[in-house]
Amino acid sequence: MLNMKSVPLAASIILASSAFALAQSVEVTASALNLRTGPSSRNSVIATVRRGTRLTRTGSSGNWTRVSYNGRSAYAYSRYLRNVSSGSTNGGSTSTSVTRYVTASSLNVRSGPSTRYRSRGGLRYGQAVAVTGTTGDWARINYRGSVSYVHTTYLSSTRPGGNTGSGNTGSGSTGNSGNTGGYASSSRRSRAGFIQLASSGPGFYGYYSSSKRWGRSALVYGIERAARRFKAANPGAPRIGVGDLSLENGGDIVGHASHERGVDADVRPMRNDGSENRVEYRQRAYSRPLTQQVITLLRSEMRVKLIFFLDSRVRGVQPWPKHNRHFHVRIR
Ligand SMILES: [Zn+2]
Repeated sequence: MLNMKSVPLAASIILASSAFALAQSVEVTASALNLRTGPSSRNSVIATVRRGTRLTRTGSSGNWTRVSYNGRSAYAYSRYLRNVSSGSTNGGSTSTSVTRYVTASSLNVRSGPSTRYRSRGGLRYGQAVAVTGTTGDWARINYRGSVSYVHTTYLSSTRPGGNTGSGNTGSGSTGNSGNTGGYASSSRRSRAGFIQLASSGPGFYGYYSSSKRWGRSALVYGIERAARRFKAANPGAPRIGVGDLSLENGGDIVGHASHERGVDADVRPMRNDGSENRVEYRQRAYSRPLTQQVITLLRSEMRVKLIFFLDSRVRGVQPWPKHNRHFHVRIR
């Protein structure tokens, strides 16, 4: 929490007025900048953000700037931030727009300015978008004819160079488990345009053959984002086990009636004993709360059409025979 006694008067005024005033945008000028829980290098690091990342300034304390990051307050050393023109926070009627570029491998587009709103689809790395305003950390864009929102952390004012995938060491290099967007671990792309889900990544592991872990980018990156959020919310918990998706270019897959079009994924229910193994939903080692979290996160990170699972006490699933040791997610 912010210690009000230590905040200079000017910062207090900014804090008090930030609800209605224009939010000041700041941009990261260091190649990698730590965001911390408090205004000192003794405070722990919440996330590391890259050069060009834009953040909303909400106050200051000494040499530190208070910013909003993924809905939380964080502090960054002011020397590595520069002011940029502010966006409107009133969600209102600006008719002008600015061009921004997507820096995440797959950026979720949502119906409202928070991760609680449903996903409408995704934008790809390097894609240009016209931003018409901001609400907190969210940029307002027009997506398929509807007013939609994307997180500003994954937008840059400059067109990103290089490729999104293989040169990137993934989120391991940033240690940024609270990240909901960029730095995908999975990058291999097939002829059919499918992405191969990595054998493991932050918050997930694959438990069957990698030859059957191909899917549409919305599915693969949706799983990655959900897993990253799961890990951030449950740092010590076992990872999410992901089974079959589809073959490299789709088509018939032995042992499955579906899993042909890159839109299906099998996922293990979670266990309560800390182990990463299969579990049946009527066994004692089954964790309904953790399984519910996984399902809720998957639903929030992609456009889920259905989830088959036999535990009727989990929300957001429907029963289907044989789905007792895994649940089956299909996206639209
Ligand atoms: Zn299945």
